[in-house]
Amino acid sequence: MQVCHTIREIGEFVQNARAVGKTIGLVPTMGYFHAGHLSLMREAKKMCDVVVVSLYVNPLQFGPKEDLGEYPRDFERDCAMARSVGVGAIFAPGNAEMYPAGYNSFVEVAGITDKLCGLSRPGHFRGVTTVVAKLFNIVRPDQAFFGQKDAQQAIIIEKMVRDLNMGPEIVTLPIMREADGLAMSSRNVYLTENQRRAAPVLYRSLCAFREAVAGGERDVAKLRRDIKEMILSAPGVQIDYVEILSVPGLEPPDTLTGKCIAALAVRFGKTRLIDNMVVEV
Ligand code: AMP
Repeated sequence: MQVCHTIREIGEFVQNARAVGKTIGLVPTMGYFHAGHLSLMREAKKMCDVVVVSLYVNPLQFGPKEDLGEYPRDFERDCAMARSVGVGAIFAPGNAEMYPAGYNSFVEVAGITDKLCGLSRPGHFRGVTTVVAKLFNIVRPDQAFFGQKDAQQAIIIEKMVRDLNMGPEIVTLPIMREADGLAMSSRNVYLTENQRRAAPVLYRSLCAFREAVAGGERDVAKLRRDIKEMILSAPGVQIDYVEILSVPGLEPPDTLTGKCIAALAVRFGKTRLIDNMVVEV
């Protein structure tokens, strides 16, 4: 596995692979790998000849009061994990490489970025689409792999690729969970013991939502109320949002029809966790 810190190095790596006819899969990440990241890398390896994993904690997608400084990092461990699943190259640029002095270009998807995480994290998705567009230009992958864990992000990136006629096919893969249902996240390490014990309430509330829909419930206001109620039964939680929206338009339906997502963001103390469940009726 090659470790590249510069755009030139990763450019050469990709060019060499392409020259011998290999297809390239890109997995964009912020590092501190868990089984969710590894599932994306494994799938990429199945579908593409060569897998490039970008590992970059992108300052542009963090708000001024967010956890950029504390975001967990362990580069050596990440490299060992990526190597173990057959990743071809890690691209881990520094900030000066990605945003040199005078950098002033941004990519913005309008509309669907204004809701859910876009509301509570203004500018977040502009940072995400900008860095992902840059990564697509640097690596020029055939396919790029994202997790359903960040459902809104995946929808926004698909829209960006369609709207701007970008090259890669976007592949979105299922949420990997801990044994008790908590969605894996690099941020789970922030949770105290008590918060960690309480956190699976998120998945339980989404499973109850899925069961209610399977049982015929179509009243969106009621479904939403029930999710909130179950979450608030846990100690010390603060709901950022609980929404039920259409997919991929992210519009609020009155009654549940077609493909819909229940998406939530909940704070356990300082730690903000997100999760979601898609249903189709
Ligand atoms: P991150 O490093 O948190 O930016 O995540 C990098 C990629 O891994 C994103 O496409 C995420 O959606 C995906 N990812 C994060 N957590 C999970 C998970 N629990 N299951 C599947 N994919 C995930």
